[in-house]
Amino acid sequence: MKKLLLNPIFRVSVGLLTLTVSMLLMGGWLGLVPDATEAQFESRRKFSESLAVQLSSLAASGDSHHIGTTLEAVVSRNPDVLAARFRSDSSGSEPGSGDNEVEGTARDKVIVPVFWGDRQWGSVEVRFTPTSASWLPGFANNTVLALVAFVLALGMLLFPVFLKWVLPELDPSRVIPGRVKAAFDTLAEGILILDEQGDIMLANNAFTRSVSITGANLLGKKASSLNWINSDGENRQLIPKDDLPWMRVLTTGEKQTDACIAITHGTSTRRAFAVNCTPIHDDKHSVRGVIATFDDLTELQEKNAQLNETLIDLQKSKAAVDQKSKELEFLATRDPMTGCLNRRAFNESLDDRIGLARKHNHNLVCMMVDIDHFKRINDNYGHAVGDNVIKFVADTIQAKIRPIDLLARYGGEEFCLVLDDLDLEDARDIAERIRLAVMDGDSCTFASTIKVTCSFGLSVWSSKLADKEELVNNADKALYRAKESGRNRVLAWEEGNTSSSARSEGIIGAQPTRES
Ligand code: GH3
Ligand code: MG
Ligand code: MG
Repeated sequence: MKKLLLNPIFRVSVGLLTLTVSMLLMGGWLGLVPDATEAQFESRRKFSESLAVQLSSLAASGDSHHIGTTLEAVVSRNPDVLAARFRSDSSGSEPGSGDNEVEGTARDKVIVPVFWGDRQWGSVEVRFTPTSASWLPGFANNTVLALVAFVLALGMLLFPVFLKWVLPELDPSRVIPGRVKAAFDTLAEGILILDEQGDIMLANNAFTRSVSITGANLLGKKASSLNWINSDGENRQLIPKDDLPWMRVLTTGEKQTDACIAITHGTSTRRAFAVNCTPIHDDKHSVRGVIATFDDLTELQEKNAQLNETLIDLQKSKAAVDQKSKELEFLATRDPMTGCLNRRAFNESLDDRIGLARKHNHNLVCMMVDIDHFKRINDNYGHAVGDNVIKFVADTIQAKIRPIDLLARYGGEEFCLVLDDLDLEDARDIAERIRLAVMDGDSCTFASTIKVTCSFGLSVWSSKLADKEELVNNADKALYRAKESGRNRVLAWEEGNTSSSARSEGIIGAQPTRES
């Protein structure tokens, strides 16, 4: 019994019957169903009236015998008539047939007056077989109740049979043959077949697994009613229905390729897909549905995200390593006190610069700078002050040269520079500017009573020179002469100028314009 009550066909049948019966009862109650009892009463009344007309002419001629035989014939020929009697107003009871008394309910008995001229002369009384009473209080019309009973009895038999036949026709899964579904189930890609309304007609196993919804729960459902979001991670807003690729196919008839969308369940689970949608056409080339393939990109995207994170970490590490190697390179190539190149780094760079000067045939000037009487500064003011003087001279030189020029701390209080692409005169100007700036001591961090001067020796690179050592030696020789000739001055070594007495060894001088 419980099984029967749970049977959907039984339940739908009962529902349909209840509806049908309610409608019939309502129609009956409103008087829309013809009343057979009323029709019967009307025909009895007409029958009685025609009988009264017939008997009144016999009564007028006083033919009571004929009246009696007529009434007998009426009763014997009509099974519906139980008794019939003619009653004269003057003489009381007259001839009749059937029971002596024409008894019965108002509906079973008809009395018709008989007139003689304008005067009522008597009456004809006819009793008919009794009409049955209504089964249902409030319903005089038994026809409706009979109809309801009939519909109930037949409906209980026919509705289940009809539903059993028609329900499978409404099952969306029947649209796709089982063997086609079985073939789609073998694919690793998710497949949805949609009808022209976007309702799911088929969802293969790969799709149901991906979205974690059973096939039975998907069939007949609108594909757009699932929680589709953009696949680009952070944006979890639902995609408008009309923007979904299969809806575009249904509206435009054009196939849609590589649409990236994701589906979400709650806040955590999310699967991303590359979706391709192709229209299904009928013979008249109208779009009748869509076949949509879902390539699950979730794992790929997760791996990509991991790779990206690793890449970012690697880039950070590389930047840190680069920074460290720059620092190390700086430490390895620089003098820690002044930040100038150290001697080893300077020598390496000098090789490159000479190579470039050779290649492009441009000038290269080497400049040696030495602080004058530095020992005295150390002796008079201490080593720390001496260090500050060295730093001051280094900073002053750096401020007066170009970024491309090389500046090295060559010895204790001795610097060596290489100035690219300058002739000797320009180099001498630079040396002069440095010399004056040191003398002025504008930015010195030591007592202004300490007078600092420097001597300068210059030499120019020429193809006649053997190597860089010769270039530096020439500058050193010029420096030595500058020291000898009184310090705080700029002297240059020039090849071929050895004949002059003042320049007996190729030294040309620049006298100090201002003495310390
Ligand atoms: P000149 O004018 O002939 O160059 O005389 P000078 O005293 O400058 O030259 P000298 O070579 O006699 O003395 C250089 C001194 O520089 C000797 C050394 O103690 C000092 N010195 C070398 N390196 C440093 C340093 O890093 N800091 C300090 N404070 N002194 C240094
Ligand atoms: Mg010195
Ligand atoms: Mg020195």
